Amino acid sequence: MVIEAKELSKIYGSGENRVVALDKAGLKIGQGDFISIIGPSGSGKSTLLHLLSGLDRPTSGSLTYDGKDIYSFHDKELSAFRRRRIGFIFQQFNLLPVLTARENIIMPILLDKKQPEETYLDQLTGLLGIQERLAHLPHELSGGQQQRVAIARALAAQPDIIFADEPTGNLDSKSGSEVMELLKNVQRKMDKTLVVITHDNRIAKMADRQFVIVDGILSEVAA
Ligand code: ADP
Ligand code: MG
Repeated sequence: MVIEAKELSKIYGSGENRVVALDKAGLKIGQGDFISIIGPSGSGKSTLLHLLSGLDRPTSGSLTYDGKDIYSFHDKELSAFRRRRIGFIFQQFNLLPVLTARENIIMPILLDKKQPEETYLDQLTGLLGIQERLAHLPHELSGGQQQRVAIARALAAQPDIIFADEPTGNLDSKSGSEVMELLKNVQRKMDKTLVVITHDNRIAKMADRQFVIVDGILSEVAA
């Protein structure tokens, strides 16, 4: 799956309240790429991620997945596309507190009226080192373990692409690094495309290609 964004812009508000959150961003992401986007708070990182993943629509510009303009999809089509092809990892884990780790992981599959593939889930939870934790509730897990469960949930439906918005933002630096190493390992082993947003330079540097965003302007850092 090749993702290509051309001149993507997002403008919020009008008149005195007009904010150009993203200014004609262009980028091309290949299958299996690991890309990082670094930028200060308010620079447009989340806006870009939401546009790239079809969670939001741009003011102007285009976005294609394998040549298909995904903003031409109807809302229902777009959400089905996201559910099957894209996984999301958030800063605050967003696990449901009354469900066990395993139940959290398979929830998106059940909501899609499908059955989990046990062999795949075993491989995934093995790679993430959470097999012994699957019967636990989120509050019985450390922050790093909760985020590993959230990573397994993002990958449960076997998407091609993972978008992570500050995945280590709620973790101390040691467990943050561990989580990122595990995520990178899963990305490699399973040939997933990974796009990570961060304001941590060490994490940005783990990627194959690095981008910087400042005041809504995206640029690639020369390798
Ligand atoms: P980041 O994720 O890098 O912190 P965001 O993408 O969330 O930045 O925001 C970029 C800019 O757009 C900021 O100035 C922010 O205040 C503004 N912004 C984001 N979302 C909205 C919105 N829904 N309405 C108005 N302004 C917004
Ligand atoms: Mg943000």
